[in-house]
Amino acid sequence: MMRKKDFERVFSKERITKLIDEFGAIGADPNGGVTRLAFSSYDIKAREKIIRIMENELGLKVRIDPWGNIIGRREGKLNNAASLMTGSHLDSVRNGGKFDGPAGVLGAVEAIRALNELKIKTFHPLELVVFTAEEPNDFGISTVGSRGMVGKLSKEELLNIKNNEGFSILDAIKKIGGDPDRFHEGIRKPGEIKAFIEIHIEQMPYLEKEKKDIGIVEGITGIHRAKVIIHGVAKHAGTTPMNERQDALVAAAHLIKTLNKLASTEKNTVATVGQISVKPNSINIIPSETSLDLEVRSYHKSAIKKILEDFYNEMSLIGKVYGVKTSIKDTYHTEPTTFSPYIREKIKQACDILGFSYLNLVSMAGHDANHIATIADTGMIFIPSHKGLSHCPKEWTDPIYLVKGAKVLAQSLLILDQEN
Ligand SMILES: [Zn+2]
Repeated sequence: MMRKKDFERVFSKERITKLIDEFGAIGADPNGGVTRLAFSSYDIKAREKIIRIMENELGLKVRIDPWGNIIGRREGKLNNAASLMTGSHLDSVRNGGKFDGPAGVLGAVEAIRALNELKIKTFHPLELVVFTAEEPNDFGISTVGSRGMVGKLSKEELLNIKNNEGFSILDAIKKIGGDPDRFHEGIRKPGEIKAFIEIHIEQMPYLEKEKKDIGIVEGITGIHRAKVIIHGVAKHAGTTPMNERQDALVAAAHLIKTLNKLASTEKNTVATVGQISVKPNSINIIPSETSLDLEVRSYHKSAIKKILEDFYNEMSLIGKVYGVKTSIKDTYHTEPTTFSPYIREKIKQACDILGFSYLNLVSMAGHDANHIATIADTGMIFIPSHKGLSHCPKEWTDPIYLVKGAKVLAQSLLILDQEN
């Protein structure tokens, strides 16, 4: 199945660039970047626009599932065959970029448009999904649509989640066309989806550095988060000699440094203290309490375990050194995901057919694909991010790669379509 020549004719860099810019204008910040938070008026505007494109330009049959996911379907030649699914999200973080999410949705639009123009009728139905609320938002919850679709979220769990204005997330889901009373009907059964492939910007610098076209994602990092509290004693910052202090912030600094060092020696592993609070937070009082929110991410379960063990060890040691008491509480945990070797192989074959270079890599950020991987063979196609920048206005991907990603997606779907 040699599609390279056909593809030259039907894929358009100008068309996909124009769409990226049009969607980037919805919620554009005056100072650059995009703020299109899930369920906001801009998110709704973007959703309406993509539905129009899916229906009027691609000829898809569009429905909104009970979780608010937009699903456009292109029927296949085989009745009742499992579907080949693709898609991503259109919501953004606050002051983010215009590629994270839209690159995957609009890449899929370009791929389906190309199949239409080539008059290719697949055996399996194709489904293009725009997932609800992938990014953190005013409700403090992410990957809502993909988790809902695989049965990892329930109405009960969302019942008390409200934004700052007291608006409930269930009402927000209703506002975009979902139906919390029918959430269970939105759960896809294993076997219904033959494969899921998501195009996404890499958000890391490796593809650009290695001058590769495509990243074939081996899997997604696991994440462990915990809150550490350190109790010291508040005393006069002037009159207390240095050797008589129980300074909670100095102990915290020690732990932050320790965590940084522990992660630096492991592969595919990072660790961060991203949030810290100090009491009483006053210029002339020795800090009596600090709290640290830490995060360890690794593709290797064993690395997360080892770092945490060494960190706990250090915590118990510093008690004596600084005269402080410490405690730690886990707040979040997800295991690493390994994507289907079968799908990775198909993406590799697609790259070979199209003559694109590729790199196998691990994603250090979470995606909707994490969750879909629990019910279907799943893979991700990464395209280069300039300098690895993401979740910021400077996020940028050369349109050449938007097209390459869309071509690899179309070719991968065609290869998968030939197999039962
Ligand atoms: Zn994303």
